[in-house]
Amino acid sequence: MERQAVQRAKEAFLSGRTRPLEFRLQQLHALQRLITENEAEISTALKQDINRSQYDTPLLELIGIDTEIKLALEKLAEWAAPRPAERNLLTISDEVYILPQPLGVVLIIGAWNYPWALTLLPLVGAIAADLCSLSPGNAAVVKPSELSEYSSLLLRALLPRYLDKDLYPVITGGVSVTQELLRLRFDHIFYTGSSAVGKLVMEAAARHLTPVTLELGGKSPCYIDKDCDIRVACRRITWGKFVNCGQTCIAPDFILCEPCIQGRVVECLRQTLLEFYGADPKSSPDYGRIINQRHFLRVMGLMEGYTPVVGGQNDASQRYIAPTVLKDVPPHSRLMQEEIFGPLLPIVAVSDMDDAIRFINEREKPLALYIFCSDKKATKRMIEETTSGGVTVNDVMMHYTLSSLPFGGVGQSGMGHYHGKHTFDQLSHQRACLVRSLRMENVNLARYPPQDRRRARR
Ligand code: NAD
Repeated sequence: MERQAVQRAKEAFLSGRTRPLEFRLQQLHALQRLITENEAEISTALKQDINRSQYDTPLLELIGIDTEIKLALEKLAEWAAPRPAERNLLTISDEVYILPQPLGVVLIIGAWNYPWALTLLPLVGAIAADLCSLSPGNAAVVKPSELSEYSSLLLRALLPRYLDKDLYPVITGGVSVTQELLRLRFDHIFYTGSSAVGKLVMEAAARHLTPVTLELGGKSPCYIDKDCDIRVACRRITWGKFVNCGQTCIAPDFILCEPCIQGRVVECLRQTLLEFYGADPKSSPDYGRIINQRHFLRVMGLMEGYTPVVGGQNDASQRYIAPTVLKDVPPHSRLMQEEIFGPLLPIVAVSDMDDAIRFINEREKPLALYIFCSDKKATKRMIEETTSGGVTVNDVMMHYTLSSLPFGGVGQSGMGHYHGKHTFDQLSHQRACLVRSLRMENVNLARYPPQDRRRARR
């Protein structure tokens, strides 16, 4: 079935029906309608998948998709225009330019934590990159995660109602289906998920020399300087850590701070949690659940051996884990080895900013880094002396909302980036174009054999 759907996408791509500009614009408008007309169903599906608050779904996923479609529609002509490039002495009177062109058939494999944004944002880019040329545009095979089952099935039902069903098929199913897809040849693979599976995707892509974008995860550190406004810092961190029940790739994974402020940090987190989710987060309509039993057990396992200073309560029957804070966590504990991807917030003590920088640089390059600090010079230094996919100062996750910034990882947290024009660039080929005339042949004689005639002309 996968093979046939991919074959149909290839044929549709080669048929040239994506050529007319109007067709491609209409696909983007249709995708926009899919989001606006089905907001309630999408929110309900996410409620079933991870008990996501109805209020959070538009805020965390749908508005972003709508914004990216609007941006693509508005800026496309500019992005797609051939860009003149510099000439040298030998090409002084020629036309030299870079022409973005679609890559062909793109495989989009999404993760379950934001199943709409993680599949549809790359799809916007794939359709937009279509618009850049008169050659047939990208087709895209969308494989949502099997773990967010309700969302996946809804996406499979909705997408063909709005978009060309041959060009943009949705394929659902488990790991074996993804593996089968990965055996096939694509022109680009856009994968979002864990670093472990990212390696398998890259291995499979290598067999066909297919380029990949890997949007992976990791442990994103959050440093709190002792002189900043700790109350405000903790409010922002609490939101970013516990929204979606901690299942956000760029959630602050752990806090680094000096021991002298640890007590205050814990108190501020406790107060904010009470304000956000009440005394019993389990009954809060704003607090989510862990996606499945396997992940529930994994997150619970990470907590073993610790006594939380906040939270710790759980209920396996609902896959509920309370927002939990752990202090004085040893740097080499299990909790600090793997991405938490759940509602546990460990605090690790560091002696100062230099120690925090050392701590970060000794580990894998994270997807995001958060710095809470009022000293601009110290903040700049920390940005310059560390690395991560992205960095936000005095807040968390907000760099994700800017289409102007490339979103992606570095090292183990991923490769390639997207959002706004960056998605368009990622899914287009930058074709080098040199257009010469057949006149002025004398200029070229110096490069033609025989040698002695070349020497004489120099
Ligand atoms: P997941 O288990 O849903 O896997 C994602 C996709 O990979 C699915 O379509 C699945 O079918 C496929 N897959 C799983 N195992 C496979 C295998 N052995 N072979 C081939 N395909 C396989 O999602 P996940 O990996 O649990 O997602 C969570 C991870 O994703 C976290 O590490 C998180 O940080 C990361 N993430 C990153 C971003 C980002 O933008 N960088 C966004 C969201 C999530």
